[in-house]
Amino acid sequence: MLKQETEGVIKYHLNHEFTAANPKWDIVAINTWRTLLYQLKLIGQHADRYMGYGYGNISQRTEGEQFLISGTQTSGIAKLTLENYCLVEATDLASNTLYSSGPCNPSSEALSHASVYQHDKSIQCVIHAHNPDIWHATKDLKLPCIAQGVAYGTPDMAHAINQLFHSGRLKHQSLFTMLGHKDGVFSFGQDFPRAAFTMINTLASARQLK
Ligand SMILES: [Zn+2]
Repeated sequence: MLKQETEGVIKYHLNHEFTAANPKWDIVAINTWRTLLYQLKLIGQHADRYMGYGYGNISQRTEGEQFLISGTQTSGIAKLTLENYCLVEATDLASNTLYSSGPCNPSSEALSHASVYQHDKSIQCVIHAHNPDIWHATKDLKLPCIAQGVAYGTPDMAHAINQLFHSGRLKHQSLFTMLGHKDGVFSFGQDFPRAAFTMINTLASARQLK
């Protein structure tokens, strides 16, 4: 039995400095793709899913290991604004600590985004969605996956993502599911078209199994 988890609870140590949104943040691409993913219900919030908690988030590397990410508790908003994003400035996986700044706290899954960026400098965009079709198709589509015993937003998850990268399984498939996180799936790429296409293409493949 899969343990029911509450979505959206921040499990890492957060050092967040509340500041005004930086007008230099360019959110045109990230926000356009995020709105589209919301319309596809890959990001969102519904009374009958996950006990009504919001799900899914999106990020974009800015420079080095820094990245912009959608804020916590923003999944139910149809169209985000600059106020709904923040900058992750540094992460320390060893101490499970994240340093960020901006008008809102980062997504509860920011640590998982950070571990993806740390693995491959060419990765510029990360999408975390929730979709039952993709998740249930993990075995049939032979999707790379994180084992069931690993909970979202934890150092264990960051380490498991590490291991998945080291296994070489993400070289040819830039997507993985998280079996311990109901319907959870990550995709990534050099840009949003690639990261989003991988997600949507996998969804189409999963639906064709039925
Ligand atoms: Zn999630």
